[in-house]
Amino acid sequence: MIDGFFYVSRREGRVCLLYDITIVGAGIAGVFLAYELADSGQKILLLDRGKRLEDRHPCPLDQANTCECNACDTYFGFGGLGKSEGKFNYSNGFGGELEQKVGAHTFKNLMRRVDDVLCRFGADTIPVYSTFQPNLSKRAEEAGLNMIHTDVRHLGTVKSIQVLQELYLYLLDKIDMKFECEIASMDCQYDYFSIRTKQEVISSKQVVLATGRSGSDWLTKIWDSFGISPSKTRLDLGIRVEMKAEQFRSVLQRAFETKLSFHHGEKVTTTYCMNPRGRIVRKYQDGLVMPDGQNYREKGSIGTANLNFTLFTPTYFSTQQAADQYAHAIIEKINRDKARIVVQRWEDLCNGMPTCMEMLVRNEVKPTLEADCGDLLEEVPGLYIAMLQTFFTRLEHFIQEPIHPDTLLYGMDAKFYAPVIPTDPYMQTEVNGLFVVGDCSGISHSLSQAAACGLYVGEFLKQQY
Ligand SMILES: Cc1cc2nc3c(=O)[nH]c(=O)nc-3n(C[C@H](O)[C@H](O)[C@H](O)COP(=O)(O)OP(=O)(O)OC[C@H]3O[C@@H](n4cnc5c(N)ncnc54)[C@H](O)[C@@H]3O)c2cc1C
Repeated sequence: MIDGFFYVSRREGRVCLLYDITIVGAGIAGVFLAYELADSGQKILLLDRGKRLEDRHPCPLDQANTCECNACDTYFGFGGLGKSEGKFNYSNGFGGELEQKVGAHTFKNLMRRVDDVLCRFGADTIPVYSTFQPNLSKRAEEAGLNMIHTDVRHLGTVKSIQVLQELYLYLLDKIDMKFECEIASMDCQYDYFSIRTKQEVISSKQVVLATGRSGSDWLTKIWDSFGISPSKTRLDLGIRVEMKAEQFRSVLQRAFETKLSFHHGEKVTTTYCMNPRGRIVRKYQDGLVMPDGQNYREKGSIGTANLNFTLFTPTYFSTQQAADQYAHAIIEKINRDKARIVVQRWEDLCNGMPTCMEMLVRNEVKPTLEADCGDLLEEVPGLYIAMLQTFFTRLEHFIQEPIHPDTLLYGMDAKFYAPVIPTDPYMQTEVNGLFVVGDCSGISHSLSQAAACGLYVGEFLKQQY
């Protein structure tokens, strides 16, 4: 018997809470969806495995210690990964396939709306910049490279946290929110979903899953229980490059960074996370240790003479398990049960010889990460070496000078994705009333597209009401 917000469930034999829509996961996708639905008149619940934003603290993992969090504060909690760098790229060129799903016109409107929401909550103090430079684009094209254009609002960690906190306060009296809430099981019978947590049973007419990549293991069980078969899973692997920042001077005259890609056979390889004057740090993820870029502006340092980025090449696997196994097999071998990362000079790689410590000490490009000298040819699959060589040949043409022989190459970086979930055009899965938004859908891989995905499904659910 359903009577308003509470109802007596014959199945549970007790009074239960009934929501119109439950959003599982309070990352950027879940929060933007909640924002869109907040004034819809529907009873909305936003629940998350992690903590409120103000209770999320740096995890010891970030300082190379063991993570003992139940749900790691780095990944879980209000804002999800939106709490990190907060770089909103308003482009379809990278960061997901939402445009293919919703169409170019809707996509453009969604990008504008994401920015409007951010600005409503304080992001307007950070200016937008564009990476569009027509003359350089032409030069890149002549060199066999594609310069990806985007407008960017780069909030940085501090502003991201402020904007998210304002969003939290806005939602506070409009919807229900539950944190540190572990869902044991979920099923659908009659016309509502039963969500069992340790404390209670929550009932909801519709459920939207927004658990990001961090919720993948849990989500695999949910897909199994509903008989949903995820399709392909993407995995990006690549070598992190550290070179003289000076070599990019002609390209970065008017922009903080750039994104370059090229086609090689069936593969599209792209530069990722470019940090002029930045450092390379260790990234601890999924039990693996990888080289990652750190923006010098984030840490208030005066910066280095180097520029770093990863050259990622995506590969698609039939299951998430296969993608994870492939990445683990390569990177665990490099890590050797420790936090080992291997570094080699570009000239040494070309000459097929390992780099040794004496060479590194004399190297003009001073390494910003302590890594083990070695031979990438022995540690990294040939595909990624070949992609790097092709890229450098084209880059030399583009920047009109040879890549410095002391350029450093670090093995090996990875970016993990959730599998693509089959859905209808409004992100509804094969189970009626069960939707999926953000990175856990396999459709978005970035903050702007995850947020846009939330707004898009929110608009649809509002119209349905
Ligand atoms: C280190 C790092 C930096 C990044 N920087 C950028 C950047 O600057 N710009 C950019 O565009 N992209 C960036 N990305 C990618 C970007 O962060 C993601 O694409 C985006 O956060 C996806 O949003 P989401 O809401 O789908 O998922 P998430 O942000 O991952 O949020 C998922 C939420 O679900 C919750 N959750 C997970 N499992 C459960 C469960 N079982 N039950 C309940 N809740 C659960 C989590 O606690 C979390 O709050 C970065 C990624 C990483 C790893």
